[in-house]
Amino acid sequence: MKPAPFEYLAVNSVSEAVTALQRYGPNSRIIAGGQSLMQEMNLRQTRPAFLVDINGIKELDYIRETANGLAIGALTRHRTVERSELVQKICPLLQEAVKHIAHFQIRNRGTIGGSLSHNAPGAEYGVVTRLLDAEIVAVGPDGERIIPAEKFFIGHFKTDLKPAEMVTEVRFPALSKETGYAFLEVTRRHGHIPIVSTAATLRLNPDDTVKEAHIALGNVSSKGVPYKVKAVSRLYGQKLTQDVLADLAKAIEAEVDPDPHADSEAVFVKQFSGITSRRVSELSSATYRKQVS
Ligand code: FAD
Repeated sequence: MKPAPFEYLAVNSVSEAVTALQRYGPNSRIIAGGQSLMQEMNLRQTRPAFLVDINGIKELDYIRETANGLAIGALTRHRTVERSELVQKICPLLQEAVKHIAHFQIRNRGTIGGSLSHNAPGAEYGVVTRLLDAEIVAVGPDGERIIPAEKFFIGHFKTDLKPAEMVTEVRFPALSKETGYAFLEVTRRHGHIPIVSTAATLRLNPDDTVKEAHIALGNVSSKGVPYKVKAVSRLYGQKLTQDVLADLAKAIEAEVDPDPHADSEAVFVKQFSGITSRRVSELSSATYRKQVS
């Protein structure tokens, strides 16, 4: 398939991109890695009349340490995150997640800004961004604004980005040395968009009771947004016994509102509850020990 005809403009700065998006209006689209947009255009699911190519904005391709964690430029490729020593040191959970994105050819081109702006249900970056309450920096005609992950994702393939606004940076908090972490997903084949994805962090007290735990899930919310589990608070102060984990799995099952487009809600909810509790229990031993050693 071929895309419908479109005009194309390559820009070299954020202000040029915003000006072009403003000038060409709602029928214009940014193209970054093109790994989602070109598919949609080739299938004619999307027919933008005007493409603004941001690949020339070299200053959006970076990973930097900040006072609280990491700042990643919107044009940073998945592969760069996957291989970054800084990411490994400061927020290794991101690398656990990014390994699951598609195949290396796609990771060589796809960008973090593109993935978050696209907001495909279950997408790995979205789940980690929501889990860690990361912040998304957007620039538009009215200047810069910082959007918390909780507010950024608003529906299936929809975000809080306003017309002519673009993502320029994503800010992740550092994971402390005492924090265990994991990312797991259910897919039909490695590299496919996940049916269900899950990310977790865990801190234990010296007596092995839970000090802090968070779990986020992708593709279990009928709203089409990454979901942060509330029931996890019941773990606080408890030891992670099989009974406690089984209880948590049941509570999560009751709490989530699976995507009605998933093939079989029951099967997938069971699968994700299984992987969540299994992984949390692994976290209490292997991963946690690795982190604190
Ligand atoms: P593009 O395709 O260029 O753009 C996607 C959308 O985001 C467009 O609407 C575009 O206008 C907008 N956009 C891009 N950059 C910005 C910006 N800075 N500001 C505002 N809007 C912007 N993804 C996963 O997460 N998990 C997977 O398992 C997975 N599997 C895949 C398998 C295949 C076979 C393919 C082809 C893709 C897969 N993807 C997967 C998608 C891939 O991760 C994409 O790279 C990503 O979703 C989009 O990033 P991109 O840079 O390619 O964006």
